[in-house]
Amino acid sequence: MQELLLGTAKRALRYLGSINDRPVRPDAGAVTRLSRFDLPLQEGPVDPETVIAELDEYGSPATMAIASGRFFGFVIGGSLPSSLAANWLATAWDQNTGLSTVTPSTSELERISLRWLLDLLHLPSTAAGAFVTGATVANFTALAAARRSVLLKHDWDPDADGLFGAPSVTVIAGEEAHPTVLKSLGMLGLGKKRIVRIPVDGQGRMRADALPTIQGPTIVIAQAGNVNTGAVDPLKAVCRWAHDGGAWVHVDGAFGLWGSVAPSRAYLLEGVGDADSWATDAHKWLNVPYDSGLAFVRDGEALRGAMAITAEYLPKMTELRDPSDYTPELSRRARGVDVWAALRSLGTKGLSEMIERTCRHARRFAEALTAGGFEVLNEVVLNQVLVSFGTPEQTLKTISLLQQDGTCWVGGTVWQGRTAMRISVSSWATTDEDVEKSLRAMISIGTSVAGKR
Ligand SMILES: *Cc1c(COP(=O)(O)O)cnc(C)c1O
Repeated sequence: MQELLLGTAKRALRYLGSINDRPVRPDAGAVTRLSRFDLPLQEGPVDPETVIAELDEYGSPATMAIASGRFFGFVIGGSLPSSLAANWLATAWDQNTGLSTVTPSTSELERISLRWLLDLLHLPSTAAGAFVTGATVANFTALAAARRSVLLKHDWDPDADGLFGAPSVTVIAGEEAHPTVLKSLGMLGLGKKRIVRIPVDGQGRMRADALPTIQGPTIVIAQAGNVNTGAVDPLKAVCRWAHDGGAWVHVDGAFGLWGSVAPSRAYLLEGVGDADSWATDAHKWLNVPYDSGLAFVRDGEALRGAMAITAEYLPKMTELRDPSDYTPELSRRARGVDVWAALRSLGTKGLSEMIERTCRHARRFAEALTAGGFEVLNEVVLNQVLVSFGTPEQTLKTISLLQQDGTCWVGGTVWQGRTAMRISVSSWATTDEDVEKSLRAMISIGTSVAGKR
């Protein structure tokens, strides 16, 4: 065991130690060599050290260097050293974190992390929370509580009796709601297609002047952090209007919710604490390992009522918080440990500095690309930058050449009809030097594609 784990740690260190000296994209030859894994499963055992050696030899070179400081695809951070190390230790602990009496250490770490998070994110201190796999499941979890709450008010228990024959629930969301929100609504029987969509402005924000009249059981879904622009819905106005109409407000804040820990960005999240539930990710801007998302619900009983189970063999022996009372999963890893370690190592100052820094990097990208003659399509309010390199073909060509070049990795999108390169700065590891190096590659490739030189 000793040699195996120390040897694996050495391999991980070698991997991370060279991550900034290799192309960010996976090596094409290494991707071809993944076929070396594709063997019929042999009959006898293979010694664990050989198993790890194979993983490292064939798996490591074919990875995307998401852990480097120059991966700007999607909205996904890296893993802070503290949270990576905590993740290893927690894996060795092997705590199935469902019941506090059985796994006191990890249950307590989750309870404490939850308290810290509610305070950091300016959410009600009495809200309940769930440690889930990501924002998709966090949206699902919070919306299950919303569904229960709005229907119980109309004397219908959807968790017991289902939705056949239930009063109709209206769901209202912005045109720019994330597809995982729609998926959650589908999984909850609320339907993806029967949503009332609110028009958005040029940044993707719900238009406060276009909010419809609310009637009957209603769930309103707002967004904090548009995946393209980073824009945040006008939360204060949305909450006031929704609550005047008796609706439940859910906020999908997969990454944007973290804006409230950065003093210069907090204005965007004004009124966030007025909502009824929130979904966010820890594996995006908090920079903990996947998979790690969080759901928070103001009315803890609505969440518990939707999620808690009882069974003779699952002892409820204390008044302590049992993590599985709040999550769709019963058995699961102790993902709150990584969250606790990240928060403990950063402190409030370190966390707000990390969010401020990544936002600052995004603004630097926008300024330098504008100066380089390219068009930035969004107001860079958080960590997202959309850039056009000319025609759609020129932009797509620039993205593709940049990906091949390997200095950095960025994706593409279409924003309100315009093809754009999408830069998301979410990693703790990104330095000023990473930004400048990436900018040189972007400007040089973009300029030659545009035939400007
Ligand atoms: C990333 C994202 C999601 C989905 O999160 P996962 O962690 O991938 O499940 C949902 N909503 C928004 C706004 C996002 O940015």
